[in-house]
Amino acid sequence: AKEKGRGRFRFYSAELGAAVAARLSLERDLRAAQDNHEFELYYQPKIDARNGKVVGAEALLRWHRGGQGMVSPALFIPLAEQLELIVQIGDWVIAQACRQLQAWHAMGLTGMKLAVNLSVAQLNDAGLAVRVADQIQRYGIGPDQLELEITESMMMSDPEQAIANLQALRALGVTLSIDDFGTGYSSMAYLKRLPVSALKLDRSFIQNIDQDATDADLCAGVIALAHMLGLQVVAEGVETPAQRDALLSRDCDYFQGYLFARPLPVTQATAYLQQAA
Ligand code: C2E
Ligand code: CA
Ligand code: CA
Ligand code: CA
Repeated sequence: AKEKGRGRFRFYSAELGAAVAARLSLERDLRAAQDNHEFELYYQPKIDARNGKVVGAEALLRWHRGGQGMVSPALFIPLAEQLELIVQIGDWVIAQACRQLQAWHAMGLTGMKLAVNLSVAQLNDAGLAVRVADQIQRYGIGPDQLELEITESMMMSDPEQAIANLQALRALGVTLSIDDFGTGYSSMAYLKRLPVSALKLDRSFIQNIDQDATDADLCAGVIALAHMLGLQVVAEGVETPAQRDALLSRDCDYFQGYLFARPLPVTQATAYLQQAA
C-alpha cells in the first residue's frame, strides 16, 4: 500500500509539474508576444438594425502564439491583466484601431466606427485619456469614430479615477459604451451617471429571446429604459433570423453576431465593410 501511495504521489506531482511548466511557458510567451508581433486585431461588423447597413466594427484581439496556433482572448486577456501587461497591450490595440480607421478612410470607407475593449487597469490609469488623444491626433481620425467599451464591474475598484477617465474621454469626443450589459451587477444609478452613449446587451440575454417570453419582456424593458436615458442599444451574439426579428420588433438599434459576420481578419473585414456600407 505504501509503495502504491508513493507511486500515486509521484504520478500527481509529475502532472502538477507539467502544468506549472506549461503555465510558466505561457507566461513567458505572452510577455514576449508584443515584441514578436504576435498580436493581431480581428474586426466584427456592427449592423444598423433598421437598414441593415454596416456602421463599423468591434476590434477583438488575437494572439498567434509562436508556432502554436491562436490562443483565445478569454484565456490570455485575464493572464495579461494578472501579469500587468494589459495597459501596454491595450495601448497597442488603441493605436492599431486608430491606424485602421485611417486606412479605411483612405480607401473611401469614411465615418466607420471602431469599438475597442478596455480592461480595468486601463480605466484606472491616470494617463489613459492623454494617450488616447495622442493616437487620435496621430492618425487624424474623428474622435467619435473611436468607441471604448467598459463593463460595469470595472467601475468598482477605483470609481473616482474611472469616472475622471470617462469624463476626459467623453470631452475628447470619444464614444463610450457599456459591454456585457445584464450580466454582472447592474446599477441604474451608474447608467444615469456614466457619460456613455450605448449599452451592449449580453448574448445570454438575447439567446432565447425568440422562445422565452420573459427574456423577450426583459429585453424590451431594457431597450425602452436605455432609450429613455438617451442610450442606444447594441445586441451582441445575434445568431439567428428569429433573434434578429425579435430584437428589431423591440426597437433594438444595432446588431452584432455570427448571423451577420464573425470577427474577421482585416482583409475580409474590409471587404465586408465595402460591400455592406
Ligand atoms: P466581448 O467584448 O464580449 O466580445 C464578444 C465576444 O463574443 C467575442 O469573443 C466574439 O467573437 C464573440 N461573438 C460575437 N458574435 C457571436 C455570436 O454570434 N455567437 C457567439 N457564440 N459568440 C459571438 P472573443 O473574440 O473570443 O473575445 C472574448 C472576450 O475577450 C471579449 O468579450 C472581451 O471581453 C475580451 N477581449 C477581446 N479583445 C480584447 C481587447 O483588445 N482588450 C481587452 N481588454 N479585452 C478584449
Ligand atoms: Ca466588447
Ligand atoms: Ca460583450
Ligand atoms: Ca466580455
